Amino acid sequence: MKINLKEAIKFHGHLGPYLVLGLLAGETALKKLKSKKYFGLKVSVWGANKKPKSCLVDGLQLSTGATYGKGNIHKYNSRIIKILFFDKNRNRRLTIALKKDLIFKLNTLKGHRDSEAFAKKLYNLKPLKVFDLQSIT
Ligand SMILES: [Zn+2]
Repeated sequence: MKINLKEAIKFHGHLGPYLVLGLLAGETALKKLKSKKYFGLKVSVWGANKKPKSCLVDGLQLSTGATYGKGNIHKYNSRIIKILFFDKNRNRRLTIALKKDLIFKLNTLKGHRDSEAFAKKLYNLKPLKVFDLQSIT
């Protein structure tokens, strides 16, 4: 189920590309792993420690239902963003990384308006255009 942007902004406070990427990555992972939201899923995030990259974590919490309150999402230091989804019930893992073109584009965004406009565009893109997926069984 796709989280709408209004709902995401209400939770997070503003619209940005990393928030949207978190939403998309979580949705993609649930679909690929056929996982249920909230429980039985563990999410590990690398490289999202500082703003704006850390906004990714809120998008992931919203889309996967893995939350800090339940202790099933964790973040780790890294220079590169990577997300690992682990479905405990099915014992399946999926990693999601950002495509090189996307990383380049994100680094060229300047200011709020630019970021918001790109976030909206991202929301309507097919996730496979921006992510590299790898399943580990
Ligand atoms: Zn943010």
